[in-house]
Order: sequence, then structure tokens, then C-alpha cells
Amino acid sequence: MSKTANIFNIQHFSVNDGPGIRTVVFFKGCPLDCVWCHNPESKSVEQELSFSNEKCILCKKCAGICPCSVHTFENNIHHINREKCVMCGKCVDICEMSSLKILGKEYPLKEIMEDIAKDDVFFADDGGVTFSGGEPFMQFDSLYELLKMCKAKGYSTCIETSGFTLKENILKAAEYTDYFLFDCKETNPENHKKYIGADNKLILENLSALCSVNAHVILRCPIIPGINDRQEHFDSIARLANQYSCIKSIEFMPYHPLGISKSEQLGKTYSFDMRNFADKNMIENYCQSIIDKIFVSIKIN
Ligand code: SF4
Ligand code: SF4
Ligand code: SF4
Repeated sequence: MSKTANIFNIQHFSVNDGPGIRTVVFFKGCPLDCVWCHNPESKSVEQELSFSNEKCILCKKCAGICPCSVHTFENNIHHINREKCVMCGKCVDICEMSSLKILGKEYPLKEIMEDIAKDDVFFADDGGVTFSGGEPFMQFDSLYELLKMCKAKGYSTCIETSGFTLKENILKAAEYTDYFLFDCKETNPENHKKYIGADNKLILENLSALCSVNAHVILRCPIIPGINDRQEHFDSIARLANQYSCIKSIEFMPYHPLGISKSEQLGKTYSFDMRNFADKNMIENYCQSIIDKIFVSIKIN
């Protein structure tokens, strides 16, 4: 049995990650590489040092305590040499502005369950626990144990996944999962490979596998300007919804540019330089164009 999971956040009282009020456990690590990644802090399995320049008051206390000379200052600019960082956390503890954070930590599963239990009075009939990421299936053993523990407690369970994982694992997880928030990022296989880093064959096979066990799938479709905001993609989503009986509803997720600042805080470049939010009216029009062709509900988040 796996006793820990590499987690970068536990969010309480979420109303956007599955039905009802949910506690969301964010796993670190993702095998895909979406150019617009809205969660860049989740991509690497490694611990990472995040720094918010906006909060920094240049007090230099971090430089004073760091054993590895990671923090230097020149002309009132705070430079960070992350390659030297050994993740000791001393600078994080001393920073009074909460400008520094270490992302990712091995949590004992027992501790995660204790954190979840603090919220369980709020779960009511439809709320519960959502495992998200990153890609939670990258840490399958830990995910599987947590699902079983949640079910033993009577919690509703939900997994937010790209679907890019082993079929045997997704089927094992399905035995303990009430809802899958299953991504549909791109319906054209070549575009999928170009913008997401792999084609969508395995993902569609796993969607089919979930249907074979009557899983409950909510299809989640991020709409990214200039990449998949086109009629053909919406038509293909409608065909998927008609083809796969396990899809019970569709949620469209308009692009937001928050990944840019999160990437900057990790010292990474963000290749997708789109600083505007997606146009919701345009997405509504596309939704209208398919609404009469499908038998499941559509929502724009
Ligand atoms: S699947 Fe999610 S976490 Fe992974 S690269 Fe894409 S947006 Fe980022
Ligand atoms: S301790 Fe915090 S506020 Fe002070 S210089 Fe370092 S990061 Fe900036
Ligand atoms: S975590 Fe430790 S090694 Fe890394 S920058 Fe902070 S004090 Fe230096």
C-alpha cells in the first residue's frame, strides 16, 4: 500500500469541481504538455520554489537565511537561482509577505484523510471529494488507496482527469468513483498532438472503457482562443456526447490567462502568450449551434 501522495494543494469548499460542495486534492505531476496549461504548478513531479514579485518588499531576509545563495539583489531587482535551491523552506518561513512558497509535498494518506474529514459535514447529499491535478492517475497507487478510504467513509468521489492513463488503472479506479470530470481538450488528433503533446487515441479508448462499466462522466472542454474555438470542434464534441452513453453532461471551460502569472512565479516561460479571457458570448453561440443535436445538458463554467 502506498502511504503518501505528492500533493500541491488541498482546496476546501469548492463548488466548481464536481457536484455540490467538495474538497479538492491536487496531485502534482502531469504527463501532458498543453501549451495553455492553466495549472503550471502541477506539471512537474518535483518540488518547486514559487516567488511572487508583486508581494516582495525587498527586505532581503530570504538572502540572509538561505544556505545556498539562491536569492540575490541587484538594482532593486530580486533574482532567484532555482538550480541551487535544496528546498529547505527556510526562506519561505522567514518571508513575512508570503512571497515565497514551496509547491509539492509528500503527504501521508492518513493526513490527507484527516484534512478531508474536517469538511465532511458540508458534503450533504451531493458533495464530497475530488481528486485533481496535474494528473491524479500519475500516482495511481496513492489515488486508489485514497478512493477506497473515501468510500469506506461514505464520501462521494470524483476524479478530474485528462484520460491519458492506463486503461486497467482507470477501470480499477471506476469501482470507487462516482463521477469522472473527463477532459476533452481537442477533437482533432493532429491538433491534439501539436498543442497537448500526444494524440487523443488513448484518451478516447479510456472514455470507451468507462462507458463499458457505466461510469458517470462529465465531459470538460476547455475552450482556448485560436486553438479549439471553431465550429468543427463543437460539432465533434456533440458527436462524442451522442456516441458515448457514459457522458451525462458537458461543461465548457473558457480560457483564462492565470497560467501566465503562475508560470512567471516559477521562473518558467509561458509559450502561449494569450492575455485575454476567452469570449463567453462566442462560446455561448457555439453551444447554441449544438444544443439541439445532443441529449445531455451543457453548461459554461
Ligand atoms: S493536462 Fe492540465 S496540468 Fe497537464 S499540461 Fe494540460 S492543463 Fe496542464
Ligand atoms: S523575505 Fe520575502 S519580502 Fe523579503 S526579500 Fe525575500 S521574498 Fe522579498
Ligand atoms: S528553500 Fe532553502 S535553499 Fe531554497 S531558496 Fe529557500 S532557503 Fe534557499
